[in-house]
Amino acid sequence: MSWNKLKTLFNTVRAKMCGINVALILMAFLLSFNGIYFFQRNYLLNEMEEKITIFSNEFEYEYLTGDEEIPGAEVIHTQTVDIPDFASIAIQRHRPEANVVFACQSLNQMGENTITVIAEADDLLFEFTITPSRIEERELTASLSERIASMHEEFNEESYGEDDQQVFFLLMSADGEMLAHSRQSPDELRFLTEPVHVQSDKTWLTRHRQGNHSVMALYKRLYDGNLLVIAGNLTKAERNLAHLASILGIVMVFMIVVSLAGSWLLSGMFLKGLNRVKKAAAHIAEGDFDQRVAMGREGQEINELATVFNDMVDQVEKLLRELKTVSDDIAHDLRTPLTVLRGRAELALTSGNGTDLPIQVLDSCDHLLDIINTTLLISQTEAGLFTAQREELDLQDVAQQTVDIFLPAAEAQGITLEFVPAPKVSLLQVNRTAMQRLLGNLVENAIKFTPPGGRVEIRITEEAGKLSLVVSDTGSGIQPQDKDNIFKRFYRGDGSRSTRGSGLGLSLVKAIVIACDGTISVESAPGTGTTFLITLPIASQTNAAKPARDEKSGGG
Ligand code: ADP
Repeated sequence: MSWNKLKTLFNTVRAKMCGINVALILMAFLLSFNGIYFFQRNYLLNEMEEKITIFSNEFEYEYLTGDEEIPGAEVIHTQTVDIPDFASIAIQRHRPEANVVFACQSLNQMGENTITVIAEADDLLFEFTITPSRIEERELTASLSERIASMHEEFNEESYGEDDQQVFFLLMSADGEMLAHSRQSPDELRFLTEPVHVQSDKTWLTRHRQGNHSVMALYKRLYDGNLLVIAGNLTKAERNLAHLASILGIVMVFMIVVSLAGSWLLSGMFLKGLNRVKKAAAHIAEGDFDQRVAMGREGQEINELATVFNDMVDQVEKLLRELKTVSDDIAHDLRTPLTVLRGRAELALTSGNGTDLPIQVLDSCDHLLDIINTTLLISQTEAGLFTAQREELDLQDVAQQTVDIFLPAAEAQGITLEFVPAPKVSLLQVNRTAMQRLLGNLVENAIKFTPPGGRVEIRITEEAGKLSLVVSDTGSGIQPQDKDNIFKRFYRGDGSRSTRGSGLGLSLVKAIVIACDGTISVESAPGTGTTFLITLPIASQTNAAKPARDEKSGGG
C-alpha cells in the first residue's frame, strides 16, 4: 500500500475512531496493569520482610538468652511501641543502671500482660520478667562461644525446612568475620558480608543480587557489636511477578486486537448510515431528485439525519418545481400582452392609422411592468427581504386608510365599503407597506368580485395574543375547484377571466402573511360571498394596547 493510500486511510473517521478506541483501552489497561503489578509486588516484598523480621527477633532473643523464643511474643524494643511505664519504672527501681537491649511483650499462663526485658548492667546481662504486680530477674550467663554454638545450631534447625537457597542466616563479628552461618558454605554467603562496611545503622534492610539470586537482607547490630544477618531469596517472588507480567501482557495484546476489530466493525456499522446519505446526495447532485435515504437500524441519530436530509431534498425539489412553474407562468403571461402589442403595432403599420398606438403601448407596458414588479415583490417577500424593515404599527390605521382609498371606486359601483374597528388593539411589529399591499389586494378583489348593491367589510379583533383581520364581501364567491389554487402565482378563477388582473394578488398576500408568521384562510360560497381570515401574532414588545378609539368607517 502506498504512503498516500495509507495517509488517506488514517484520515478516515473509521480509522480515527479505531485509533481513539484502542488508545483509550491501552491507557485503561496500562493503569490497571500497573495497579495489579505493583500491588502484587508490594505484597510479596512485605511478606518476605515480615518473614525475615520474625526470624531476626527469634534469633536475637536466643542469642541473648540461649532459650527458645517466648511463644506469641511481640517484640517492642525495636519498634515504635514504647515499653509500658509500669515495666520501665520497675526496672529503674530494681537496677537503675540497666541499659535495655531487647524487649518483648506476651501473655503469661494467667493471662497477664508480661513484659520481658533484657538489659545490660555492670557488663552483665539480665532478663527481667515484669507483670503489673511483680518483677523477676535472672542473670544471663552464657559465654560468647556458647552463644555462637547455639546460634549455629539454631540456624541449621531453622533453615532445615527451607530449600537450600531460600533463606540465609549469618552471625558476624563487628569486623566482618563469620561466627556462625546456615547450611550454605561460607563462600555462598560471602555476598552478605559485603555491604557491612558501608552501613552503620543499628538495623537496616537491603536488597542484593547474587548470580541468579535476588535477596532481601536484614542486618541487625546486636548489643555486643556482632551482626545478625537474615536474608530471604526473592527469586521465586520475582518469577511469579514475571509470570504475572507476561499474562497481563498477553491479555493486553488480546484486548487491543479485540478492541481494534470491534471498533472497526462498529464504526463500519454506524458509517453505513452516513454512506447511504452520501450515495443519495451524489445521485441528487447528478440531478436525480427521486433519490431518498432509506431508514436503517444503525441508530436513532442516523435515522434523524436521513429524515432531515430527505426533508431538505423534498424542500429543494418543491422549490425547483415552483421555480419552473413560475418561469413557465411568467413566459406564458408575458407572451400574451407582447403578442397583442406586436399585433397592434403591425396593424397600425399596415393600415397607416397609428393614432391610438402610443396609448395602447403604454397600457400594455404598464401591465407587463406590474406583472414583473409583483413577481419580484413576491420573491423578495418569500426571501424575507421586503418585510424586513419593521415598525410598530396600528393595523386599524392601515385599514382606515385602505377604506379611504377604495371608497370612491366602491361607491362608483354602488358597493358599501365599511371598516368595523375593535375598541382596542395591540400594535404590530410589521412593515407598513406590506400591510398596505395586503389590505389593498384583498379589498380590491372584494370590490372587483362584488356586484352593485353588495357590501364589503373589514373587521379587526384581538384575541389570545393575535390580531384577526377579516375581509368579507357579498360577491360572486369562489368555485370549490378554485379554492385550493387561488393562492398560486398567476392562477385566476374561471369566473374572473373577464376582469382585469394578473393572478398575483393573493400570492403576494399569502407571502406577506407567512413572512409575518401569520395564517390565512378563506371561506366562500358561490353566489353568496367570500371571507378571508388572516391572523397575525402580536410580538411581546408591541403588546402595548392602544387606547379605545372612536369607531371609524368608510361610507357605503
Ligand atoms: P386576480 O385578482 O388578479 O385575478 P388574485 O391572485 O388576486 O388575482 O386572485 C386569484 C383568483 O382568486 C381570482 O382570479 C379570483 O378567481 C379569486 N378571488 C380572489 N378574491 C376573490 C373574491 N373576493 N371573491 C371571489 N373570487 C376571488
